[in-house]
Amino acid sequence: DCLIHIKNGDQYSSDNQEIDDFNVIVEVVHLCGGKHRLIPSPFANEKKKPVTNIVKFVRTPMPSKEKLKPRPPVVTIMGHVDHGKTSLLDALRNSNIVSTEFGGITQHIGAFIVPVSKSTTVTFIDTPGHLAFAEMRARGAQVTDVVVLVVAADDGVMPQTLESIAHANRAKVPIVVALNKIDKADGNIKRTETMLAEHGLQLESIGGDIVGVPISALKNVNIDKLLESILAVAELQQLRGDPNGPVEGTILESKHDETKSENNEFDNNQRKGNLATILVQRGVLKKGTILLAGQSVARVRALYNERGIQIECATLSMPVQVTGWKTLPAAGEEVFEIESENLANRIAAQRKADEIAQKMEIDVIAVTQKHEEHLQKYRAELQRRRQLGIVFRKRDKGSGQHIEDKEEKLKYSILVKTDVFGTLEALTKIINMYNDTRCPLDVVDTSVGPVNDDDIEAAQLFNATIYAFNTNINQTIALEASRKQVPIRTFNVIYHMLNDIKNELTKRIPSIE
Ligand code: GDP
Repeated sequence: DCLIHIKNGDQYSSDNQEIDDFNVIVEVVHLCGGKHRLIPSPFANEKKKPVTNIVKFVRTPMPSKEKLKPRPPVVTIMGHVDHGKTSLLDALRNSNIVSTEFGGITQHIGAFIVPVSKSTTVTFIDTPGHLAFAEMRARGAQVTDVVVLVVAADDGVMPQTLESIAHANRAKVPIVVALNKIDKADGNIKRTETMLAEHGLQLESIGGDIVGVPISALKNVNIDKLLESILAVAELQQLRGDPNGPVEGTILESKHDETKSENNEFDNNQRKGNLATILVQRGVLKKGTILLAGQSVARVRALYNERGIQIECATLSMPVQVTGWKTLPAAGEEVFEIESENLANRIAAQRKADEIAQKMEIDVIAVTQKHEEHLQKYRAELQRRRQLGIVFRKRDKGSGQHIEDKEEKLKYSILVKTDVFGTLEALTKIINMYNDTRCPLDVVDTSVGPVNDDDIEAAQLFNATIYAFNTNINQTIALEASRKQVPIRTFNVIYHMLNDIKNELTKRIPSIE
């Protein structure tokens, strides 16, 4: 009688006796090539029979250190308002265009790459300011390796300068200081250095270990020096990644695009639709890769770089805009490659259900116990009715004992089937909140999986309507149901399903009064 919460990243082994005795069936899905393990347990009494179907996954473990490869650093620019963050980003972006043959205007996709030498690049996050940084971090996304702190030399340390330092420290990300606006006559580098030192940032120029580069973002002075310093600081961190594993990354930005793409003949006349920029942090992202980000799924249709040019693949630390999303993923969401679209959809559905359950503060244990008691009663009653061959007069004029119980006729009975356990929890909770005695709602049974013969039989014996959520009804079952006059209603939006139940109940109330 215990409950284990399985989070993304948790590791499990089915050799573990404790888990084998566990009370809920869980399917643990390793991403890409990992093993699928069913942890056997009874939702109730039937050991080894999977009753529930909670799909959770664990990240494919990282390979040993020797198998990791160096990767380019990812940089976020922070600093006080008007100190020159946007100007610096522009200067860096321009240095990018100069070095490329086929230009293309740099578009804002959330990040861009600056080539520093033939083999080295630096990735800059294109949203200045600590807000974006804080938002990302709040979602648990850590995408920054180095923070460039822009401080205007004429203005010195200001409130947002301090906030930026605090953010970088909290995230344990090294800082490179860009002393900006040195072209201005009133630029006072010495004073700024002293102010920074007072707040714990000792620049090298005054004997500390923080790298500081005097620049002018506006006049393009020392931008190359700044890039070199960034690389030097990044070098010390020995940034490494796994280029061969399943794709992992972080969503930097997402939007819905209605414009047509003109960059590729194959893409002409096709709207880009849902776009999301991913920072690749593991593996190689290619066309056709199945991705899961939060509750969003994509089969990657096309990849675009920051110049709007289609590319074949994206490697470590590369930002890339990706089309093919069924729904828009949120910025900051972690991205994982999944081996099949079907599996990705199942995990997404489970996450959705978990979210609903969490929002409603569903106490899984309480609901489960109550439900269990109900199920036991239900099973006994089902047995009794089976033996008696009970049928309802209005449905079956054949022989057998008829239920004439008034209460039985007045209530609305339903049998609920769902695709995943989480949805079942959420629905059970909502349904249990209903307690209008004028028309009782009787949930005769609830279970996970497609509608089967037993469900139809039970629905017939209890005069119930079957509500099937996100599950397919096959032809044989549909025929069987219509033969037995058991209504089956299918839904794939929880609120639609609840509305339907509500309507049925409301319809019945006037006829009672
Ligand atoms: P942000 O708010 O930090 O993004 O700052 P901006 O990049 O928008 O810059 C604020 C103002 O400072 C703008 O008017 C810029 O033209 C100006 N500015 C930025 N960098 C420099 C610089 O190096 N020298 C001078 N003189 N002005 C600059």
